[in-house]
Amino acid sequence: MAGVYVHIPFCASRCSYCDFFSTLRLDDAGRDYVEAVVAEARMMAAELRGEQVTTLYLGGGTPSQLPVALLSRLVEGLREAIDMSAVEEFTIEANPDDVSPDWCKALTALGVNRVSMGVQSFEDVILKAIGRRHTAAQAVEAVARLRDAGISNLSLDLIFGLPGQTIASWTDSVNSAIALHPSHLSAYGLTYEEGTRLWRQRERGEVVEVPEEQCLEMYRILVNLLREAGYEHYEISNFALPGYHSRHNSSYWNDTPYLGLGAAAHSYDGKVRRWNPHDLQQYISKTLAGEPIGEIEELTLGERFDERVMLGLRTARGVDGGHLRDDFGAEAWRHFTREAARHIEAGNLRVTEDGRYVLTNDGIMLSDSIIRDLMWGE
Ligand code: SF4
Repeated sequence: MAGVYVHIPFCASRCSYCDFFSTLRLDDAGRDYVEAVVAEARMMAAELRGEQVTTLYLGGGTPSQLPVALLSRLVEGLREAIDMSAVEEFTIEANPDDVSPDWCKALTALGVNRVSMGVQSFEDVILKAIGRRHTAAQAVEAVARLRDAGISNLSLDLIFGLPGQTIASWTDSVNSAIALHPSHLSAYGLTYEEGTRLWRQRERGEVVEVPEEQCLEMYRILVNLLREAGYEHYEISNFALPGYHSRHNSSYWNDTPYLGLGAAAHSYDGKVRRWNPHDLQQYISKTLAGEPIGEIEELTLGERFDERVMLGLRTARGVDGGHLRDDFGAEAWRHFTREAARHIEAGNLRVTEDGRYVLTNDGIMLSDSIIRDLMWGE
């Protein structure tokens, strides 16, 4: 089993908080970029070592900015380069204001069966302040259009801790999302990344950061409201109705290999990590010339241990103690059990009957520091 991720690094405008790799140059670079991704898919197909590709994910940037003709060429080129006949989940990320009836129709024709939409908030004043192009009403309309076109597997993204957000307004946003009954919901706490417009606004005192305790309260509200509405909290930031866990994202958390294509995309095969340059022109010219791109790093035993612990503990399934012991040896296991014992005693971690270590509800709130304690390879 394997997943394929394609990074589409184009956006119509820049959101104030975002530090993802993307540019505003779709008009002049879009066509070459798509051909470069197809060329990279041909070059890298062998890296999949015969593993069946079961998920395809077009992320960004803003994949919904790609004109339909380029999107079709991309999907057709990927299918020629890589056997996609076993793909069960084909996701595309979208911004609500791009979701036109024609675009929805094109998605179904291309076999897309899941859309992940960046809604972020249902408060127009906040959306405007952080540079989003859509309104809450457009998000609601986009959901209806996708469903009308037959795409019912929908994921919505929300952000908590946005400047100006209150406990009451966040609660309203979560309830508005639930009212749309998406099959999946992801929610992330806002981070102030150096170099972003939001970072500079905070430096100048133009925005005030929501206090950490209030962010934790927002997260608690999120978890409770979604649980009450029947969503499974299967990863720290991810919730799904039964049967609708994101298969593609789950492959990141359970060590399934994935191939990343496009500028700034990452790949991982269980031992080796590869990442492409954050440089559009370099990516296009080198890839179209058939030159290998991307830097490669073989993870040490310690780094693989840390990766396994961090990704496993983020999920509701936790991390398998027996596998840690067998795969990483006595020293790593001694460190892990010693540190884990403190957190078990404090009620933040528990061990299941089949030997998996899982964060408790209290532990989820402290996940960063607990995971740091359990790491061994740093
Ligand atoms: S649309 Fe997404 S990728 Fe583009 S700037 Fe906004 S948050 Fe970043």
